[in-house]
Amino acid sequence: MRILMVHTGGTIGMIRTQDGLAPRKGVVEDAVRNMIVSGEIAASVSIEALEPLIDSAKATPVDWIRMARCIVDAGDTCDAIVVTHGTDTLAYTAAALCLALPGLKKPIIVTGAMLPLTEEGSDGLRNLRDALKAAATGSPGVWVQFAGRLLHGARVRKSHSSAFDAFEAGPSTAAPFLTAESAGLNVLSPQKVGVFSVTPGACAEILGFAVDHCDGLVLRCYGSGTAPDTPQIRAALGRARDRNIPIIAVSQCPEGGMKLGTYAAGRVMRENNVVDGRDMTPEMAYVKMHFCLSLHESYAVRCDYLAKNHVGELGLEFEH
Ligand code: ASP
Repeated sequence: MRILMVHTGGTIGMIRTQDGLAPRKGVVEDAVRNMIVSGEIAASVSIEALEPLIDSAKATPVDWIRMARCIVDAGDTCDAIVVTHGTDTLAYTAAALCLALPGLKKPIIVTGAMLPLTEEGSDGLRNLRDALKAAATGSPGVWVQFAGRLLHGARVRKSHSSAFDAFEAGPSTAAPFLTAESAGLNVLSPQKVGVFSVTPGACAEILGFAVDHCDGLVLRCYGSGTAPDTPQIRAALGRARDRNIPIIAVSQCPEGGMKLGTYAAGRVMRENNVVDGRDMTPEMAYVKMHFCLSLHESYAVRCDYLAKNHVGELGLEFEH
């Protein structure tokens, strides 16, 4: 078994510095070497560290594609991939890898830690070991190994900011990869994707500004799919529709998803062609908007792309 490890940074490989925790080259590499020497891991592991290692708060869509390209470039030299990553934007990267790699035939296991490997009581060693084992036995697709659980890469979210068990993912019957005849790479071009959360008394000027300045928008609406139906919000969403700016709505509730049409208070979105994100995570909705804008030109095709279930990003109740 040949495993490619793409080390991007994150707490797992950090040390304490005067400014706080910061990535340090060699931390993850040493831990992997020790596991191999001790016989805990029976695989050959080659490590590709991204330059520079980053706190994942600094990650951008360019980094998602750098990681994906690294995996594509490795070609047949590896059987599986482990990505070590900061937890803050790990869910975005997992979603992006799902959509970036059509025809993926290998497992990609993304992991990280809440405490650095260099600190006592760290969860890093366990996550790293579990990720390497999952890579050796896993099925094709993008998975997140964390706190003893293997989670669906297209449905995962960071749900806790300090507990070791920091990630959740809803179930899905579809594997987390894009089906395609041959393997490839979907690249991204720079896109302005805005995220607007509705609130009681929401400032519609901000939504209007986003509509005028963004290429696509994620609308975080209430509960099962409602938003304030004010003349200003209606005008902003109408302008988006007239200007062919795609908008996808996802619920502010972490569980249960949404269904536009349940309430009359969702009409303002339906009438303005807002795509129903159902129970897609906000992370996936944001990432998917980047791919949608980069891969497709026409407004109608973009809306169809956003609505379709590509990599199991929709839960059981919503997948058809
Ligand atoms: N700020 C860190 C990061 O995302 C947090 C972590 O890795 O847990 O890189």
